[in-house]
Amino acid sequence: MSRAYNFSAGPATLPLEVLQQIQNDLVDYKGSGMSVMEMSHRGKDYPAIHAEAKATFKELCNLGDDYEVVFIQGGGSQQFAMIPMNFLGVGAQADYANEGTWSSKALKEAQIIAADRGATINIVADCAKDIPTRMPRDDEWKFSGNAAYAHICTNETISGAQLKKIPEVQCPLIADMSSDILGIERDFTKFDMFYAGAQKNLGPAGMAVVAIKKEFAARGEAKIPTMMKYSTHVDNDSLYNTPPTFAIYVFGEVMKWVKKMGKENLFALNDAKAAKIYDVIDASGFYKGTALPEFRSNMNVTFRIGSEELEKKFVDEAKHLGLSSLKGHRSVGGIRATIYNAFPMEGVDALVEFMKDFEKRNG
Ligand SMILES: *Cc1c(COP(=O)(O)O)cnc(C)c1O
Repeated sequence: MSRAYNFSAGPATLPLEVLQQIQNDLVDYKGSGMSVMEMSHRGKDYPAIHAEAKATFKELCNLGDDYEVVFIQGGGSQQFAMIPMNFLGVGAQADYANEGTWSSKALKEAQIIAADRGATINIVADCAKDIPTRMPRDDEWKFSGNAAYAHICTNETISGAQLKKIPEVQCPLIADMSSDILGIERDFTKFDMFYAGAQKNLGPAGMAVVAIKKEFAARGEAKIPTMMKYSTHVDNDSLYNTPPTFAIYVFGEVMKWVKKMGKENLFALNDAKAAKIYDVIDASGFYKGTALPEFRSNMNVTFRIGSEELEKKFVDEAKHLGLSSLKGHRSVGGIRATIYNAFPMEGVDALVEFMKDFEKRNG
């Protein structure tokens, strides 16, 4: 067996022992005579898998009974649309942070709904186009105070900028945590809703994991399609229709792994992994970090090398050594090393060695 060190930003590397466990249980899940993929979502074995996945995640996030965790297909991007559909009423106002590619996409969906409902979108901080990339500073936030909700993104996956401190707001706070959920310490109870496309730090692609206060979900607009309503998913335990059962099962296995590893240990390990790469960047005039140091992500490390030609050479040579998917997002170019929870320290060490050697030969 030869496993690459997979630096992909999503779908991303999963813990090897989780993959092996799944492989072991694949064709006959715990004596059921079938795989999880083949089971009825209302049958004998699946409900326990569903319940355990939710419970482990809630425990890891320290969420009480006032929150519900739901699984919704359509990834992180569908959440961008569902949020304003549910919570931006006629003539209402919502606050949006514009911090980079992903928050811009969330903002765009809100503007579509706002135009239709005579609602207003207030941009509370705008640094989406700044180079070096960054997140809003504490004194830049301009929350309106009477918004139906405020939306932020905690980690901009493409630019490699991360919000280290969550701003204080007076209205319900919603966060896109797709690329750093359970990768850094957060007080999740500050949020009325937070969500993540599962394929980054939680499991396989195929759904968004959404944690939402029950009381907040109940406040959603009534006149929207059933599947677009958070209350539908909350009231039916994500079983209004057939949920992505296999993705939920793998997510549950990954959550058990996070619990076993200890999330504090993983947070510290993530910081240590990121620091090793940033240290090489800072010690060199050859590599240039693209995010402002105070906002550097511990999940997606982004940097540039002198020319696009050198960057291509870097990516190709790295690939040859089993360091896969280091090419930056197609919209920005450069290099991106994604190192979510499941990414091993040995892979970071291999990258750091390669970076030093590549600089020697090309610097
Ligand atoms: C990847 C990503 C998304 C979009 O996820 P999809 O599941 O592809 O729709 C949204 N927000 C952030 C921060 C992301 O990294």
